[in-house]
Amino acid sequence: MSVLVYTESENGKFKKNAFEVASYAAEVAKQMGTTATAVSFNATENESLGTYGISKVLNISNDTLKTFNAKAYANSIHQAVEKEGAKVIILSSSTDTKYLAPLLAGYLKAGYVPNVVAAPESTSPFTVKRTAFSNKGFAFSEISTDVKIIGVSNNSFGIHENGTTAAVEAFDAAVSDADFATKSVEIDKVVGKATIADADIVVSAGRGMKGPENWGMIEELAEVLGAATACSKPVSDLGWRPHGEHVGQTGKPVASNLYIAIGISGAIQHLAGVSSSKVKVVINSDPEAPFFKAADYGIVGDAFEVVPQLIEKLKEFKAQNA
Ligand SMILES: Cc1cc2nc3c(=O)[nH]c(=O)nc-3n(C[C@H](O)[C@H](O)[C@H](O)COP(=O)(O)OP(=O)(O)OC[C@H]3O[C@@H](n4cnc5c(N)ncnc54)[C@H](O)[C@@H]3O)c2cc1C
Repeated sequence: MSVLVYTESENGKFKKNAFEVASYAAEVAKQMGTTATAVSFNATENESLGTYGISKVLNISNDTLKTFNAKAYANSIHQAVEKEGAKVIILSSSTDTKYLAPLLAGYLKAGYVPNVVAAPESTSPFTVKRTAFSNKGFAFSEISTDVKIIGVSNNSFGIHENGTTAAVEAFDAAVSDADFATKSVEIDKVVGKATIADADIVVSAGRGMKGPENWGMIEELAEVLGAATACSKPVSDLGWRPHGEHVGQTGKPVASNLYIAIGISGAIQHLAGVSSSKVKVVINSDPEAPFFKAADYGIVGDAFEVVPQLIEKLKEFKAQNA
């Protein structure tokens, strides 16, 4: 019996969350007195997972699984679970895994708890801490099924080095046409930019920017910081920015180390999706803007004056510390 973790990759390279869920799986395995096995799809550098405490990697190498497909991936992971006799399955809380997890839970008749933010409180009974009420509180959930599935929140547990050597094994999971009832025929992806899910820093802007023509300074600030860009819902609804940048309760969740909100009021639905970020900086001309209550640092001022000065200072700082 081992703990099994699904480590996500893209074009053969592990995503950042793969190392966090691997670290989490190693911790759960330690608590249960067992080992952690990872399952990966077409990944290279599988050995690197040993650094995070994974002792075995089952690598599925199959061209039909190059692109994520919830049913085919769930079916393949199910087979890996059976092979290992795993009782605890660790996933991230990415959009992909939120499609995959309910299918896997159905196959395994497993209890599934997403948005888990810490190592299990106890493994008998199996109790985990998760966010609740749109990140405004925590719930402690007990999973009583034989097989348990945990979705770990991004950036909550962190990446921990735990030096082990990972033995890499090729795993031939059987998939059939029935697994591909729906499939992606084309993926149109922004390239060359940090993604909201992986970025350490996110620069986000709202309706206070007045119009799409003013996003040059937001892009520039993001570039100086090596950050991803994001926006509030009305901004993407108005077509000022692509929908992929919309963050909040109905958009993408953000759990970055630094979240800079510019000209965003801080409505509850926006905060629900970004409050897991570690440090929040707010730039708003209205001192009464609700976002200031949730901020770690606040600048009351006109974004059109503050942001260019911030860019200039950051460039100076980078030049001096190059
Ligand atoms: C069911 C539901 C789901 C929703 N989901 C989401 C969601 O996922 N994400 C989301 O973002 N919203 C969501 N919303 C919308 C949310 O309620 C707010 O309407 C929205 O977040 C407001 O966006 P905003 O802050 O960009 O705009 P506004 O509320 O118009 O705020 C603009 C802010 O910019 C400031 N400002 C103006 N000029 C300047 C300047 N020159 N310099 C600096 N600051 C300036 C203003 O003081 C103000 O605080 C949802 C709403 C509902 C009902």
